[in-house]
This record gives sequence, structure tokens and C-alpha cells, in this order.
Amino acid sequence: MAEVLVLVEHAGGEVKKVTAELLTAAARLGTPAAVWAGPGIEAGQPRLAEFGAVKVYVADSPDFADYVVAPKAELLASLVASAAPAAVLVAGSAEGKEVAGRLSVMTGAGVLTDAVDVAAGPDGAALVSHANFGGAVNVHARVKSGLAIIALRPNAVAPEAAAGSAVLEPVSFEASDAARAARVVSREVAAKSARPDLQEAQIVVSGGRGTGSAEGFKVIEELADVVGAAVGASRAVTDAGWYPHAFQVGQTGKTVSPQLYAAVGISGAIQHRAGMQTSKTIIAINKDPEAPIFEIADFGVVGDLFTVVPQLIEEIGKKKQL
Ligand SMILES: Cc1cc2nc3c(=O)[nH]c(=O)nc-3n(C[C@H](O)[C@H](O)[C@H](O)COP(=O)(O)OP(=O)(O)OC[C@H]3O[C@@H](n4cnc5c(N)ncnc54)[C@H](O)[C@@H]3O)c2cc1C
Repeated sequence: MAEVLVLVEHAGGEVKKVTAELLTAAARLGTPAAVWAGPGIEAGQPRLAEFGAVKVYVADSPDFADYVVAPKAELLASLVASAAPAAVLVAGSAEGKEVAGRLSVMTGAGVLTDAVDVAAGPDGAALVSHANFGGAVNVHARVKSGLAIIALRPNAVAPEAAAGSAVLEPVSFEASDAARAARVVSREVAAKSARPDLQEAQIVVSGGRGTGSAEGFKVIEELADVVGAAVGASRAVTDAGWYPHAFQVGQTGKTVSPQLYAAVGISGAIQHRAGMQTSKTIIAINKDPEAPIFEIADFGVVGDLFTVVPQLIEEIGKKKQL
């Protein structure tokens, strides 16, 4: 079986969860071969083996840290030329999508972004599912000619452990002058919240304009903390400055697909739904029984969030004590 290249997302040697999802999807199409750009493979190798990587191409070059995304695309392009893979899988993150676009230009391969599922079609080639128009339309797509580059939405495919040998294959790599055009001159480590990453979280609690103010939005954080969730927000909230833009969910924000999504005081505009509709279970709390969010909710509570959420927090607290 041909190899399927998976670009590993890692930080400080820690392999991000989406990589396990990519390896699981890759195994449906061929032999999963991870691609590790930068240092730290010693720490990451066991995790790649646990999720079925048969081989790991390791390019430990400082170029990946010194220059933005272009070197990663060049590395993949060189591996596409040498390994002739059946497909290339990257995370559907902002960076992953940029790598996919650049790789497509370099190789002439087709790109399928925001994939929510991947399967082998009748001819063995990748058949990719997308949830379009805010999830109202499910589309199956494939690249008709040549290699497929697939950007898979985090949390869309459940990672499955599968023992792989994760044999390391060093790759010598030096970025071209063109890829060195934009250099990273300094880095500022973002203050790390104790909450899970929004796009990787199993549970997301999001608040909308119904929270009324930055002060009112705190109830969303309280609920998130009792259930170990990430906090999300609608654009109405981030535009009002009640919560940072980095936490906006929707068409112009982050796309999430957790096991559980709670939309609190959010109307359910199509642009918000575009970022959360593929969540496995959706709970809505809204005082308006006609709010569109109820059309897609699995469970709904019609009521004032400032009455409902404190009760919910109290009940969850009681359950935890049992
Ligand atoms: C190009 C474009 C891109 C966009 N991208 C995004 C995006 O990425 N993400 C996004 O979210 N939006 C996006 N929007 C904006 C989107 O159209 C909506 O305006 C926005 O989602 C509304 O946010 P909301 O649901 O919080 O506010 P509203 O629509 O005002 O809804 C507030 C809800 O809270 C309820 N409510 C009020 N008080 C209470 C209470 N005390 N208790 C319970 N419920 C209460 C109301 O009944 C109402 O349903 C975009 C718009 C455009 C045009």
C-alpha cells in the first residue's frame, strides 16, 4: 500500500491530539507515515507509534522555527516527490490550511479543506466528507486527478490506537531562499489557560450576547470550569469586547467539533453554526423558544441563562460530591 503522509502538529515534543486523528484517517487510505518538522522527535515518537505511524520522516532543521510555514510546505513537497504518497493529511488549523495551499501550488495536487471524515472510495482513492453551509449540506468530494491534500477538522475523526513501528527516517532539509522570505524575529508565549484548547476540547461552553456584558459572561467561564470545558463565544460577544477574539466560534472564528457543545444565550445565526454544527451533542439555553439554535440542538432549555446556568452549576457540583 502507498504511504499517506501526515504532517505532525507538535509543541515542545508533545504531539497534539489532532495528529492521532490524522493517523487514524491515514490508515484508511494507505500506510500512515508521519512527517516531523523540527526538534523533539525523541519525545514524540512513542505517541506516533501508538496511533499507527509505520514510519516517521524526521527533518530536524532550525528552518522550521526560524521561518513561518513555507519550509513545512517545501518539506512535504520534497517527500511527495520522493515517496509518491497516496495522499497528504494536515490538521485543519490555520497553519495546516496554509501549508495545504502552498503544497498544492508546488505539486499541482488538489486540496480538500475542512474535511470532517475520510474514507477510501471504491477505487481506493480518498473520499472526503465536508459539512457545508453551516452543516446544512453534507458533501462528499474527491480529487479527480493526482494527489489529494486533505486538511482534516480537529475532533472530527475519533483517534484509534493502532500499534505502529514508527521507524525514524532522517531527511536532510534546507529551506529555499523564497521560503525564508518571512523570518520569525521574536516569540511571545501566550499565557496558558488551565482550560483545554478550544479546538481540541471534548466539551465547549460558549456564551452569546444573551450574557449581556463582560461581567455577565463570567457565568460561562464558571460553567465551563465545573465540567472541564473550553470557553467559546459568539461574534457578538467578541466584537463587543466582552471576551477575546481568539475564542470566537463560527465562520470567521474557530471551528470546533467537540463531544458536547453548550450554546448559552446564542441565537444560532448561520455564521455561528458554521463553526459548531458538527459537534456530537448540542445543548442550547435561550430565553426565546423561537431561537434558531433550537433547530439543531439535541437538548434545549428555554429560560433565562442567569437563572438556568447557576442551577446547572449547583447540580453538577452536587453530582461531583457523590
Ligand atoms: C460575514 C459574517 C461572519 C460572521 N462570523 C461569525 C462567527 O464567526 N461567529 C459568530 O458567532 N457570528 C458570526 N457572525 C455574526 C452572526 O451573524 C450573528 O450576528 C452572531 O452570531 C450573533 O451572536 P449571538 O447569537 O450571541 O447574538 P444574538 O443573535 O443577538 O442572540 C442573542 C441570543 O441570546 C438570547 N438571550 C438574550 N438574553 C438572554 C438571557 N438572559 N437568557 C437566555 N438567553 C438570552 C436571545 O434570545 C438571543 O437568541 C458573522 C456575520 C457575518 C455577516
